[in-house]
Amino acid sequence: MDRLLEELILAAGRENVKTKEPMGPHVTFRAGGTADYFVTPDGETALSAVVRACNASQVPYYVLGNGSNLLVGDLGYHGVIIRMGEPWAFCQFQGNTVRAGAGILLSKLAREAYRRSLTGLEAAGGIPGSLGGALVMNAGAYGFEMKDVVLRARVMDREGEVKELSLEELKLGYRRSCIPEMGYTVLEAELSLSPGNQEEILAKMEELSARRKEKQPLEYPSAGSTFKRPEGYFAGKLIQDAGLRGYRVGDAQVSEKHCGFVINRGQATPGEILRLCRDVQRRVKEQFGVSMELEVRTLGEFSLPEEETDRAPEPSGTPENGG
Ligand SMILES: Cc1cc2nc3c(=O)[nH]c(=O)nc-3n(C[C@H](O)[C@H](O)[C@H](O)COP(=O)(O)OP(=O)(O)OC[C@H]3O[C@@H](n4cnc5c(N)ncnc54)[C@H](O)[C@@H]3O)c2cc1C
Repeated sequence: MDRLLEELILAAGRENVKTKEPMGPHVTFRAGGTADYFVTPDGETALSAVVRACNASQVPYYVLGNGSNLLVGDLGYHGVIIRMGEPWAFCQFQGNTVRAGAGILLSKLAREAYRRSLTGLEAAGGIPGSLGGALVMNAGAYGFEMKDVVLRARVMDREGEVKELSLEELKLGYRRSCIPEMGYTVLEAELSLSPGNQEEILAKMEELSARRKEKQPLEYPSAGSTFKRPEGYFAGKLIQDAGLRGYRVGDAQVSEKHCGFVINRGQATPGEILRLCRDVQRRVKEQFGVSMELEVRTLGEFSLPEEETDRAPEPSGTPENGG
């Protein structure tokens, strides 16, 4: 057994450490290579010990929430995936504020807020991420962003020390925060909600959920909007106008229902998904001079199919709303 594996087992317990773990089942794209090590710490002490073990071995680690914004390369991730699971799936309400763990799903948190007639999380409820992932991404929808409700967060740094960050210190912007660059792991956050009318809260949640079902290809695995919205444009509209609706690389496809989504039609490999994303970026840049940044996080090594510059269909010019 290698030294790091021994250390990880010591830190987190044998039953919480796996090796060569396929990442496909852990991400909503349902495609992914293996992680050399996959650890599910059972609390803060174990998490801190895992982080220290990684540092001592100089092996990188990466924190996983619900995997709804992540693509792991076919050739795998040569490091430690730390999954923030059950121990962080709690929420405690006090008046209009809620303290919740990084592992709780936004859908669950929104339901709990609704049960208490608290408004503020209706739009968050349809985002299939964990609270930790939502903070990292400053996730948002229908005019809402996490930064509207976050008061502060408890995080662990790369040395395994816990600290508290204010909303300002989190530096939440459009689909970004300071968390990845600082190497923080989100442990929990405090959110501020407002008293509301329970019927209205439910009506709003149902309305937004219906809008999602109508506009988004929820019947296929994906990671939601694949590209960030370039300033002044909609990613989906640019992709549509570039003639890329339905464009495929293997089983990876630009959704015909919503061009801003890249979907897995069944057996797409991470390499095919990334190749398709790169093709889309190149075509949009060539045609409109607009750079589209990936919103989806990529991790590990990819085996990309050859670029075929003529594979993308010619622009159709059919207009489409939204993005
Ligand atoms: C069908 C569908 C619809 C979607 N709709 C939306 C939408 O409307 N709005 C939107 O903003 N997003 C949307 N998304 C994308 C995704 O749900 C969000 O980005 C979400 O916030 C990711 O959370 P997660 O827990 O799944 O994070 P993951 O995918 O697990 O991780 C994302 C990033 O966060 C980091 N991370 C996760 N947890 C922690 C932690 N505890 N500490 C430190 N780092 C952490 C990871 O390292 C990674 O860099 C959608 C995705 C899908 C599949």
